[in-house]
Amino acid sequence: MKAVYFKSASTPFAKDALHLAMEKLFEKVNVVEKRDIVAIKLHMGELGNTGYIRPIFVRKIVEMVKKQGAKPFITDTTTLYGGHRNNAIDYLHTAAINGFNMASMGCPIIIADGLLGNDYISVEVDGNKINVASAIYEADCLIVMSHFKGHGMSGFGGAIKNLGMGCTSKAGKAWQHAKSKPSFNEEKCIECLKCIKFCPAHAIEYEDKIKIDYEKCYGCGACTVLCEQGCFYINNGNEFQERIVISAKAVLKKFEDKVSFFNFLMDITPRCDCCSFADKPLINDIGIVASNDAVAIDKASYDLIYSYAGKDIFYEEHGIDGLAQINIGEKIGLGDKEYKLLEI
Ligand code: SF4
Ligand code: SF4
Repeated sequence: MKAVYFKSASTPFAKDALHLAMEKLFEKVNVVEKRDIVAIKLHMGELGNTGYIRPIFVRKIVEMVKKQGAKPFITDTTTLYGGHRNNAIDYLHTAAINGFNMASMGCPIIIADGLLGNDYISVEVDGNKINVASAIYEADCLIVMSHFKGHGMSGFGGAIKNLGMGCTSKAGKAWQHAKSKPSFNEEKCIECLKCIKFCPAHAIEYEDKIKIDYEKCYGCGACTVLCEQGCFYINNGNEFQERIVISAKAVLKKFEDKVSFFNFLMDITPRCDCCSFADKPLINDIGIVASNDAVAIDKASYDLIYSYAGKDIFYEEHGIDGLAQINIGEKIGLGDKEYKLLEI
């Protein structure tokens, strides 16, 4: 059984403040050694999103890493689609607006897949070549900080998704999305034509009715989130999740026992931090969990949310079984879903 440490969001006294609890959680799962170059991977939020991990928690991890005599940097990768994080320049501007820069964090911020998202190291997993972002791959140690929330294509996103999608280059992301082209429900369409503008691949056309050009579509999923009538939906079984998990395994192949995970069960929004809005949380804040196992921490996060809500709020929201990524993860050796929850 893997250990998963839990700090409740209930903090009635100053001494229990959550940013201070980060120190205790860090000590429980610390794998950083003197002189290590440490990649602290997180999603710094799309412009307009307010659900991402608060900078104070990240700053605390930076301080703890420095205390070990190591060299931290904060990192993420560029997006496949448009928005304000599609290249390193736009991402660094967005990160600064959202509270992440050298001065506030106390360490550099490096976009791991380079200026345009094409900088990667190819890693083979089960016959698949996965493009892991170079700056992450070249670090000695990886700390993965994940905002646990809903996701329109994987049900929910936590540590596994942050590894698999978040640590790969543009081509790596494209491979994961390739099997996820949306279907279209014509009956719901009110012909507002907004989707023609927001599709980054210019794959949506109007000729008497809305049509998807599947040659151009690269399955980014933006239309499934942005169409207010819910006309687009993904119906591809678990292939998207399977590819995320295989990609996560490629990232961990480099780090093995040099990785720690922190999941934030706070601001548990329906959709991911890639959206340019956050929406109200589906449930009250629960707390923070930490572990050295990606599968165990996501299973514990899911179980905690289920036990507080009394139901699978993510399935209710998206009709997608997010547990598939956990089950596939255990099956292919990414981690262990049996865990012991230890409250600090
Ligand atoms: S955004 Fe949705 S409702 Fe509007 S035209 Fe596109 S599919 Fe139809
Ligand atoms: S049709 Fe939808 S999934 Fe395909 S590229 Fe356009 S927005 Fe993305």
